[in-house]
Amino acid sequence: MNVSSRVVQTTCPYCGTGCGVEARISPSGAVEIAGDPLHPANYGRLCVKGSALAETLTLEGRLLHPIIKGARASWREAVDLVARRFRETIEQHGPDSVAFYVSGQMLTEDYYVANKFMKGFLASANIDTNSRLCMASSVAGHKRAFGADIVPNVYEDIEEADLVVLVGSNLAWCHPVLFQRLEQAKARRADMRVVNIDPRRTATSEIADLQLSLKPGSDVALFLGLLRFLERTGRRHAAYVDRHTKGADNALLAAQDWSLTKVAAATGLDETALAEFYEAFAATERTVTIYSQGVNQSSAGTDKVNAILNCHLFTGRIGLPGAGPFSVTGQPNAMGGREVGGLANQLACHMELENARHREIVRGFWGYERVAAKPGLKAVDLFEAVGDGRIKALWIIGTNPVASLPEADKIKRALAACDFVVVSDVMAETDTAPFAHVQLPAQPWGEKDGVVTNSERRISRQRALGPAAGDAMPDWQILCSVARAMGAKGFDYAVSADIFREYAALSGHLNHGERSFDISACAEISAAAYESLRPFQWPWRRGETAFARPKRFFANGGFFTPDGRARLVATPYRPPQSRTSAAAPFVLNTGRLRDQWHTMTRTGVAPRLSQHVAEPFVEIHPEDAASLKLQPAGLARVSNAHGAVILRTLITDRQQRGSVFAPIHWTDQHAAAARVDALVAANVDPLSGQPELKASAVRIEAWPAV
Ligand code: SF4
Repeated sequence: MNVSSRVVQTTCPYCGTGCGVEARISPSGAVEIAGDPLHPANYGRLCVKGSALAETLTLEGRLLHPIIKGARASWREAVDLVARRFRETIEQHGPDSVAFYVSGQMLTEDYYVANKFMKGFLASANIDTNSRLCMASSVAGHKRAFGADIVPNVYEDIEEADLVVLVGSNLAWCHPVLFQRLEQAKARRADMRVVNIDPRRTATSEIADLQLSLKPGSDVALFLGLLRFLERTGRRHAAYVDRHTKGADNALLAAQDWSLTKVAAATGLDETALAEFYEAFAATERTVTIYSQGVNQSSAGTDKVNAILNCHLFTGRIGLPGAGPFSVTGQPNAMGGREVGGLANQLACHMELENARHREIVRGFWGYERVAAKPGLKAVDLFEAVGDGRIKALWIIGTNPVASLPEADKIKRALAACDFVVVSDVMAETDTAPFAHVQLPAQPWGEKDGVVTNSERRISRQRALGPAAGDAMPDWQILCSVARAMGAKGFDYAVSADIFREYAALSGHLNHGERSFDISACAEISAAAYESLRPFQWPWRRGETAFARPKRFFANGGFFTPDGRARLVATPYRPPQSRTSAAAPFVLNTGRLRDQWHTMTRTGVAPRLSQHVAEPFVEIHPEDAASLKLQPAGLARVSNAHGAVILRTLITDRQQRGSVFAPIHWTDQHAAAARVDALVAANVDPLSGQPELKASAVRIEAWPAV
């Protein structure tokens, strides 16, 4: 080891596991990455993406200077133009004629400032986030059941459970370090069982004792059947249900017809396998149910979440060591965004936009005359409003909606028609960049500084490894510059710690029983303490000692509903909205690969990460491939009314018949006609607004046609 190297402790910028990273920086500037052995998310482990982080620290493709209409500009020119166009638009058309579309990649401080700017200074709630595509159904389900958006359990519970049920989660690829923890626990404990519920067999299936390849979108039917089974086998935790919940009778009424035979018909599973799962769940007190995008990304996503929560509430298995429902988030700071009001229907610190008292608390704290009084537009509706001219000025921060939103070609048309589009990004050329009137250079991981929150409510620091490149600035500074240029007060932060202190202080302002998110212990944190802050789980209330035992919720009730009781929710089964037909007979499921991240702006520059899978593909069952005359490693055209893509064929029996899978990572930047989100209809969950990215009806043909 070089004695003059320095080590920076930071957090991985990819999945919601939120692993601690140690970056060792030599005097020459070379960076070596290792897992932080003391970080409670990973205890030194990293997956292949995290361990390749040093290879992504390149200036290749970076946006290093502001750009106005294709020409380099100064920060002064860019900030003045953005401020002037937003001010003029609001003067002519009102505050709801402007919008921000932000990202779960942003640090919490960035997210907080963006929300204060839009919901406070501009008094509109037209700010939504790409986290809408990732976990909005879990947020809505948590709020409906618990009265607040809270993940009740902690990562240790995955290791302590006797039964781990995975639903719509390819944990092995999408949260690889959590999977390693599960795998290692299972290797140590002969009595641990894993059930994997997923329409396709994945890398996660390899440790499953039971694989349930259900029909796409039929999860609610499966959990209705489980609730009925739990009732009929005497598994109701009567004391817990009577004392701490409401709604059990209604939930059971919705489940009463769901016999094994009916569930088998709806899910396509055989009754023996179903009975095995139901009996295992019924018999195992220490059961953790992990769920992710297969549950959330659905037009029935919130019902799927509540169907799972119902089974845990009914058995009192929640917030206990080794027992509870566990939503794992996709993005590194999806959870942090939820804390500072990143969604269009929230205020900061878990306060409600539609609650007049909460609005008054936030308004008074920020010191504005008013704050947004009604929820803003959720992602899909927001871009609809861009397309039809209701939104005339849009600022996109750290995300690539032309590649990632449903009906991506329609998003292109909407942006092309918009009067004024600003894009803040770390990369110069993205699918969205050509639509920008102004491009603003943001700092990437390795240059920026702040906090993120992982799936178990653990707040960790991301720290800069060195100075920023070119003119790049942190997102919060860019936002503050524009806000000040528009005449806003309250955007004079000198460093990110100032912002952290402010939202920590705001988190202590609700009445005690309402305070679900509370980090008021950090309200007066010193600059030095912020700099050396170790990962901690919220809540961390004023006067409490940090770094105590793992913090769980709800084992003894204490929900955040007005009466303190959880709600079991009746969840009638609805199949996916996009129905197959003779013209589009296959169900397309989209998702992530092990070694890539989103649209590959970072992972795409590390050659070893492309060795796993080098090009976009569609995975299809051998019998379907034969009927379509598809050749192994040949090409297929996948299409529907919304668009068409050309993909390499991967023929495997991991897919069930009638259903195909394609990864989300490739865009028009990488290969012509590879954006699979162009095929996804804009069908959304009615409560969460989350689009159905897992079940789109498509047609498949050999390409070129034979
Ligand atoms: Fe990063 Fe997630 Fe891998 Fe951990 S598991 S190193 S957070 S990508």
